[in-house]
Amino acid sequence: MDYQHQFLKGDKQLPVGKVVCIGRNYAEHAKELNNPVPDEPLLFIKPSTAIIPLSQSIVLPQGRGGLHYETELAILIGQRLTHASEAEAGQAIAGVGLALDLTLRDLQSTLKSKGLPWEKAKAFDGSCSLSAFAAPAGLDLTQLEFNLWINDALRQQGNTAQMLLPVTALLAYISEWFTLLPGDVVLTGTPAGVGQLQAGDQLRLQLDQVIQDETRVV
Ligand code: ZN
Repeated sequence: MDYQHQFLKGDKQLPVGKVVCIGRNYAEHAKELNNPVPDEPLLFIKPSTAIIPLSQSIVLPQGRGGLHYETELAILIGQRLTHASEAEAGQAIAGVGLALDLTLRDLQSTLKSKGLPWEKAKAFDGSCSLSAFAAPAGLDLTQLEFNLWINDALRQQGNTAQMLLPVTALLAYISEWFTLLPGDVVLTGTPAGVGQLQAGDQLRLQLDQVIQDETRVV
């Protein structure tokens, strides 16, 4: 794997670790897929081999059903977190960026209906497309807006204020189950508006005033 974390400013370096994700962290998205809002956070993991830079084109897997985009705020971890408090979690954030949690939705539905794990639908090579990271200083993580346009049409519009479990509470919760290490990334869930990607799609992602990035589907 040749992916390295990219930073908008500075020459910081962090190893590339795992990606811990939360499902259904926005009520409107749970509703659009006819999923109940969970009583307890639903976590899953993508391995480091799932990560590609957003600057690299997304390749549609062949013969595996529809590939869906989910635009999510991505948090880069800078310090080890185990059974962390929310204050410790806030201190450990090294960067804020955007991710596409790419999902083989048809396969995921099949696996879900059989009660099987989701990894083949969620954790395959290239299933986590990541932007560069901005420093968290000066950003209010409780009200960050982010958007996705596909072929210039606005398809997803999220605000972290709509999260069921806000960023620092999510990091603290994750650290009760999985130790987070420097270089790990946390995906914080997707707002409503997910859908299927088609070859030729041009995607533009924006996070507040700090990140604007593009990718395409081939
Ligand atoms: Zn997701």
